[in-house]
Amino acid sequence: MNLCDTKTVKNIMTAYGLHFRKEFGQNFLTNKMVVEDIADQCTDTTNGTILEIGPGIGTLTRELCLRHKNVIALEIDKALIPALGYTLNDFHNVTVINEDVMKADLGEILAPYFAEGTVSVCANLPYYITTPILMKLLESGLPFRYITIMIQSEVADRLVAKAGSGAYGAITAVLNYYGEAERLFTVSAGHFMPPPKVNSAVVRIKLHAQKPYVPKNEKIFFRTIKAAFEQRRKTLPNALASGFGELSKEACVRLVEAAGHRADIRGERLSTAEFLTLSDLIAEELEA
Ligand code: SAM
Repeated sequence: MNLCDTKTVKNIMTAYGLHFRKEFGQNFLTNKMVVEDIADQCTDTTNGTILEIGPGIGTLTRELCLRHKNVIALEIDKALIPALGYTLNDFHNVTVINEDVMKADLGEILAPYFAEGTVSVCANLPYYITTPILMKLLESGLPFRYITIMIQSEVADRLVAKAGSGAYGAITAVLNYYGEAERLFTVSAGHFMPPPKVNSAVVRIKLHAQKPYVPKNEKIFFRTIKAAFEQRRKTLPNALASGFGELSKEACVRLVEAAGHRADIRGERLSTAEFLTLSDLIAEELEA
């Protein structure tokens, strides 16, 4: 069955009374090479489990089933489940679950698979909810090996941006805390059905098995990053003073200088490691 063939997809959708649901970000892949490349490159093992978010009608799912031991596919759209029963009928290593990934207890669903081996995530994500899904995966604390996601090209630029560049943002600094992101390739809008308004890119994140940075206080570490980027145009001490009501402007200048920066620096210039040093000083100041 070739689910990259648009005629086949249309026939299946008609047979199951389906239509593309914009509210669920349904843009299905139609280029076989792209689908194979994602399935090939999403992790470095073949004997583990893949969690797929949003299988659609199963285009990427089939390629994942061919290459990996187990595939767990979470799909929010109930109407797609019978069609998936048909398109994945020839595979015995796939479990389709009709659930919203944002509500799903991933720890519970994946516990047997973590007990058995590696688990990675591979998904052509619905673009309306990319960042919340990525943050849920990262903050879950689950030891995913890789997270490989197809996302909007501009969001991909942000995930892999270098400190100080225009695309660098809070999400970049936070992501570097959890892992290392790599942009694999760009996919033009013409390779989807229906075509989205933007180009897409595949990003693969290798999660740190052991985090290289351990902040004194994780909450303050995240607050520091949030404060720095919420007031991006302000100098870092001013941004921190706005974000931390409990710190005076003078204290923020002193802390930024103690972390080794000039007081007129902007937060967007700091790497994740530098945010960590600064947040440790803030934590000490607040706990004193
Ligand atoms: N994997 C398919 C492909 O590549 O052709 C479909 C990808 S499509 C961009 C996104 C899929 O995610 C759709 O099937 C959509 O119904 C599903 N989806 C949207 N929101 C979701 C959520 N919160 N939880 C689980 N699946 C979701």
